[in-house]
Amino acid sequence: MYYHKDLSLLTELIERFESLPSIGHRSAERLAYHLLSVPKEEAQAFADSIVKASREIHRCPRCFNLTQQEICCVCADKSRDPKIICVVEAPKDVAAMERVRQYNGLYHVLGGCISPVKGVSPDQLHIPELARRVAEEDVEEVILALNNSVEGEVTTSFINKLLLPYAARVTRLASGLPVGALLERSDEMTILRALERREEL
Ligand SMILES: [Zn+2]
Repeated sequence: MYYHKDLSLLTELIERFESLPSIGHRSAERLAYHLLSVPKEEAQAFADSIVKASREIHRCPRCFNLTQQEICCVCADKSRDPKIICVVEAPKDVAAMERVRQYNGLYHVLGGCISPVKGVSPDQLHIPELARRVAEEDVEEVILALNNSVEGEVTTSFINKLLLPYAARVTRLASGLPVGALLERSDEMTILRALERREEL
C-alpha cells in the first residue's frame, strides 16, 4: 500500500476495521476514509461511543446478558415468569428472542458453545451457573435455544444430561430453524414457530 506510506495512522485505522467481523479490506478502507471525511466532532463522538459502551456495559450477574444497570432489564422485570429460563449462546440471541415479543420468561447466556475442536469446555461457559440457577431457583422449564450446529448439539445434550437430576422440564426449540442458522438471522415468525412447537428432550 504505497499510498499509505506516510499515513501509518490511516493504515492502523483500516486494520482495526478489518479486524471486525464481516468487514473485508475494501469495506475497511471505505469506513476509514469516510471517518476522515466527516467533521472532527463526529469522529470524536463515534470514538467516545465505543469507549463508553465498552466501559459501562457489562454482564448481568444472574443471566449474563448485557446491561448498563446492576442487573439486566429482563431479570429486573417483575412481570416476567421466573419459572422459565431460555438458554442462548450470546447476548445477540436474547435480542433476537425479544424481537418476537412472545417470550415472557428469563434468559441464561452461555457465552458460546462446548467445542472440543476449539478447546471450549463446559466450565469455560456459564454452564455451572445455569445448573446452580436450576438447583436454587424455582425453575419449571429450561428451553435450549442453541444454534443447530455440531457445537450447539453437543451443548444441548450436555446440558440436558446435567439437568436430569432436577425437576425442571428441558425442552428445545423445534427444528424449524434451518441447519446452522443463527437465531439473530432468523425472522420473527420462524423463531415464534420454533418456540411454540418446542420439543421435550
Ligand atoms: Zn439478567
